[in-house]
Amino acid sequence: MGCSAGIKQVLKKVPKNLSFSRSVLTWFDKHGRKHLPWQQDRSSYRVWISEIMLQQTQVATVIPYFEAFMARFPQLYDLADAPLDDVLARWSGLGYYARARNLHKAAQTIRDQHDGIFPENLADVLALPGIGRSTAGAILSLALNQHHAILDGNVKRVLARVFAIDGWPGKSSVAELLWHHTERLTPKKRVADFNQAMMDLGAGVCTRSRPRCEVCPLQQNCAALAEQRQTDYPGKKPKKIIPVRETQMLLLSNANNDVLLQRRSPTGIWGGLLSLPEVPVGNDVSQWCENHLGFAVKEQNRWPVMRHTFSHFHLDISPVLIVQANAAGNMTGNNVHTMSVMEGPEWVWYKGCADVGGLPAPVVRLLAKMKGTPV
Ligand code: SF4
Repeated sequence: MGCSAGIKQVLKKVPKNLSFSRSVLTWFDKHGRKHLPWQQDRSSYRVWISEIMLQQTQVATVIPYFEAFMARFPQLYDLADAPLDDVLARWSGLGYYARARNLHKAAQTIRDQHDGIFPENLADVLALPGIGRSTAGAILSLALNQHHAILDGNVKRVLARVFAIDGWPGKSSVAELLWHHTERLTPKKRVADFNQAMMDLGAGVCTRSRPRCEVCPLQQNCAALAEQRQTDYPGKKPKKIIPVRETQMLLLSNANNDVLLQRRSPTGIWGGLLSLPEVPVGNDVSQWCENHLGFAVKEQNRWPVMRHTFSHFHLDISPVLIVQANAAGNMTGNNVHTMSVMEGPEWVWYKGCADVGGLPAPVVRLLAKMKGTPV
């Protein structure tokens, strides 16, 4: 983690705090957003509601919700005294309803513990439900111009790119480094404008997939741009490495084109469901068919391996299409090939339309492929 070795030269050019904030503020004066509804009649209450709505949601979507919410709950007491259902109804469509529940709970805390006045002290704000470090900083800086840095998703992206900071910002060491930079760069004056500018830059210029570096005030000093690796920053959340298991599934049909299924044991994956018969990897399929199904295999054709992913492992399925020789079967005393029905608690000839309950998803895909109607 940290700044890549190859960009030391570029980092020398990264502006000192003052020129960084000056570039950002000059850009803000020309291009920043100054007419958002929560920027009018600015108060901690209004900024707080907007900041919570803006978590996971774009500005354009939030605006009508914010206006309707404010029309219904113009003051903190209106929100605190309202029934929760009413609050949730006004939130409907924004999603992530825990945010609305926390808003309601926090409004009641402010009513009961702070005389209905939104707290002006960082520790008190942080103690409210649903408010983290960046949101608390945003409320106090945007509403009261207090000197607090912010680090929302947009700011993380801008800083990770300007300083070419590797690693996923959800990792505490990466977050710490980003906090270090945002605190260092946040000016003492015009904090509200600076923080708004950083959010605007992230939302409108330094966008996730197509940053508009040509109009960015930080282009002269951006390490990611110099490396032409803008979209490599910030680092992605690491994928969990999960183990791979393998199995062989038999595709065996009778003269009526019914497919042999086997009921799985009640425990383990797909417990109790019907599935294709499985032969453990390493076991000889012909031998297995002779031992378990009582017929000789004339021919076997392997289909490409199909991967099915569970939360804790990948299952690589090797499907084997079986053509049997005319040998006597032992399951019902007949040749499997000639039987039209071989029902039982464990074995079922699947006719394609019978209601046999749920089938595992990869089995559904393989059955469809057998019938020439892949899904
Ligand atoms: S120069 Fe490009 S990558 Fe760098 S901060 Fe600006 S928009 Fe983002």
